[in-house]
Amino acid sequence: MKYYSTNKQAPDVSLQEAVVKGLAPDKGLYMPEKIKQLPQDFFDKIDTLSFQEIAYTVADAFFGEDIEADTLKQIVYDTLSFDTPLVHINDNIYSLELYHGPTLAFKDVGARFMARLLGYFIKKQGQTDVKVLVATSGDTGSAVANGFLGVKGIHVYVLYPKGKVSEIQECQFTTLGQNITALEIDGTFDDCQALVKTAFLDKELNEKLNLTSANSINIARFLPQAFYYFHAYAQLKKQGKAKNVVFCVPSGNFGNLTAGLIAKRMGLPVERFIAANNANDVFFEYLETGKYNPRPSVHTLANAMDVGDPSNFARILDLYNHSHKAITEDIEGYRFMDEAITNIVGYTYDRTGYLLDPHGACGYAALEDGLRDDEVGIFLETAHPTKFLDTVESIVKKEIEIPQPLKEFMKGEKKSIGLSKNFDDFKAELLK
Ligand SMILES: *Cc1c(COP(=O)(O)O)cnc(C)c1O
Repeated sequence: MKYYSTNKQAPDVSLQEAVVKGLAPDKGLYMPEKIKQLPQDFFDKIDTLSFQEIAYTVADAFFGEDIEADTLKQIVYDTLSFDTPLVHINDNIYSLELYHGPTLAFKDVGARFMARLLGYFIKKQGQTDVKVLVATSGDTGSAVANGFLGVKGIHVYVLYPKGKVSEIQECQFTTLGQNITALEIDGTFDDCQALVKTAFLDKELNEKLNLTSANSINIARFLPQAFYYFHAYAQLKKQGKAKNVVFCVPSGNFGNLTAGLIAKRMGLPVERFIAANNANDVFFEYLETGKYNPRPSVHTLANAMDVGDPSNFARILDLYNHSHKAITEDIEGYRFMDEAITNIVGYTYDRTGYLLDPHGACGYAALEDGLRDDEVGIFLETAHPTKFLDTVESIVKKEIEIPQPLKEFMKGEKKSIGLSKNFDDFKAELLK
């Protein structure tokens, strides 16, 4: 299958090229040329299938033409070594817990799939020393580092701002060793991102090294996120509740929501979507006014959603042929400020005993406000609450138990290389 750029100013490419390149040369995002409708028979029996079986059917619709069945199946089954359970909260509201992977955030699904697919292509090309660069403000670095851990032929450099990620997050990418190098940059997240961007433009580096990036723009990180929408539906169907299903997605760069929109295009019976924003509300505003005004992000309690110019907005526009009317028919917007996030975490814990993380809280709150009586609502719980330990403990005013996998990370020895934000230092490190 071919992949085209949303900017339509670059040639169509193969899956391999889209995955290895990440961004199209015209700075557009790659999209699959076809979105196949899955057969009715698949939806009739979906509640009898395992998560891996469901995911393989979805993966086959996109990647089946380009990867042998055995290999693709192996990649899908290895990626999904954990469950995404649907948990009933109250009334007709369910939480889709996406935090049971190795780093306890939904990004594990896309990062693990991409690592395996890139590993496969690199082996096919006979390359042995590909360097993956990733700048992180927290969650992305841990998911990518853990996803690529031990993948042959690939070395990952995680760039993170010194003193600006939580202790738990830092442990998740500084204690791994093997093919993961953590670079502690004396600067901000923006400085880290600038170093990565400069590296991709540097002639000498690109002549001497095979560089690639593992951000959410990459098609191999974004498309696999469709898997769990189907799995959530299957779990509802098993309970006889799969009618008028609404998915609510706490959104930052909008990769997660866009994967859901693609699932709907493939025939998944979804009534509508809700996009939940925090104070970074450019998409909310777009839905209200039809105008898109990107601006610098502001810091909030749900910091993984602090995005002022969401990259996957281009994919949403493309999917709906730039029609504001069509987009608003499928997606409704909600927005929650920090005070509301605090209230909803505390109130939900008191009332139901369920501990939300600040991102999932936006999703739950939107369903509380906007779900109709004849609908069933699923919000995506995108990270485990203990990843934001200080925030949630100060809200519910008690000590929260840290899950075993996170404790394991915290036992490891922190190893990172301190660097200035000067590009020459970073370049020298890469050339070592
Ligand atoms: C990355 C992230 C989000 C935002 O997801 P997008 O796909 O960028 O919209 C939401 N919650 C958590 C916990 C995240 O790590």
